[in-house]
Amino acid sequence: MTAPMLTVEQAVERVLSAFQPLEPERVPILDALGCVLAEDVRAGDDIPPHTNSSMDGYAVLAADTFGASADHPTRLRVVGEIAAGHVPEAKVTPGTAMRIMTGAPIPPGADAVVRVEDTASDQDWVDIYVEVPLGNYIRPAGEDVRRGECVLPNGTLLRPQEIGMLATVGHKEALVHRRPRVAILATGDEVLEIDQPLTPGKIRNANSYSNAAQVLKHGGVPLLLGIARDSVEDLTTKIRAGLAQDIDLFLTSGGVSVGDFDLVKDVLAAEGDIAFWRVRMKPGKPLAFGYLTLPSPPSVPPASGGDAPKGQGGTTTPILGLPGNPVSVMVSFEMFVRPAIWKMLGRTDLARPTLQATLMDEIARKDERRHYVRVRVEECDGEIRAYLTGDQGSGILSSMVKANALAIIPEDWDHALADARVQVMMLD
Ligand code: AMP
Ligand code: MG
Repeated sequence: MTAPMLTVEQAVERVLSAFQPLEPERVPILDALGCVLAEDVRAGDDIPPHTNSSMDGYAVLAADTFGASADHPTRLRVVGEIAAGHVPEAKVTPGTAMRIMTGAPIPPGADAVVRVEDTASDQDWVDIYVEVPLGNYIRPAGEDVRRGECVLPNGTLLRPQEIGMLATVGHKEALVHRRPRVAILATGDEVLEIDQPLTPGKIRNANSYSNAAQVLKHGGVPLLLGIARDSVEDLTTKIRAGLAQDIDLFLTSGGVSVGDFDLVKDVLAAEGDIAFWRVRMKPGKPLAFGYLTLPSPPSVPPASGGDAPKGQGGTTTPILGLPGNPVSVMVSFEMFVRPAIWKMLGRTDLARPTLQATLMDEIARKDERRHYVRVRVEECDGEIRAYLTGDQGSGILSSMVKANALAIIPEDWDHALADARVQVMMLD
């Protein structure tokens, strides 16, 4: 029986329905980059906490500067100095000024700051060359954030600026949805580990590493399970060993096509409830998706105390069987695994941004699948242009290396002319 043909949207929808945001955990804020908040974060203090100077200069009474100019400076008596991190010890009264540094609290009495560039001074005196308004270069307490204000609502994706905000409001840790743990198994008799010598008929394992890097880039935790040989025994052993770990998603690459040694399909079918699809996309047509079930251990008399090891006993784990070709596996990951990871992280907008671009090279012939074409997108004379990155074969990893985007060529086009307007999905 041939596998059913699904549109990309149907396949994405079915895959995503298997995932939910993972449970929240409290982690140090630097471990939360790329995660999503699972609580509202409120400020316990005004930020900045004290009214302070935004310039190095002199804290003064604005009224004392009225009429001051380069030709007719106003002379004030310097009554002290205040650096950032210190508390003023004197007051500013009419006719006096206090030297002040950026970030230092405004001393009592002062209502404006004159920049040091607009003054000249000796030890005890300062000449003011400009007239300044009330509040000049003064940053009021709470100007950024008010005490009690919700600075980051539940659901916020944490980027570097949100990490800074957590720090400034005094949060060392954040409650975020846990990162998904993604197990990655390569398959194939021909596949060698990176450091094994290349022997006739063999290739190195690219897929596990490109996929693991994609997992990392998108906020998950990869778990490399190595390479399974094209035998039922080795595949079964490695799949079960992977499942016994505490994982949220299982990925395999290769063996889901129609070759004689594409045993991954048979083994997956035996180990769980798996559907095999043909997705109307190129590259990445074959795709397996479903749930693996770790067989319950044979029942043994209960040992004295102690819990069953985690991950055992009929646990089901979602699995995606990705194609084997190095470009296909990455594009399939991009379409199905990246949004699944984002959903588990608690993100709600799961789409990549797309742009309209002008295709600069012709695609002479294509079939009725949606083609994801590797392109380099550049802006030139106000126009966004997409250049093919060479041979579009699904084994040509260098076409991915040169690309920063995938151009989407619709199902119903049988070719694409140079100059065609296409949507491009940015990868970086
Ligand atoms: P398959 O679907 O298993 O027939 O694999 C399709 C193509 O991808 C074959 O040329 C494989 O040699 C290649 N391939 C499979 N797994 C990997 C891998 N981990 N790294 C690089 N290439 C692979
Ligand atoms: Mg294979």
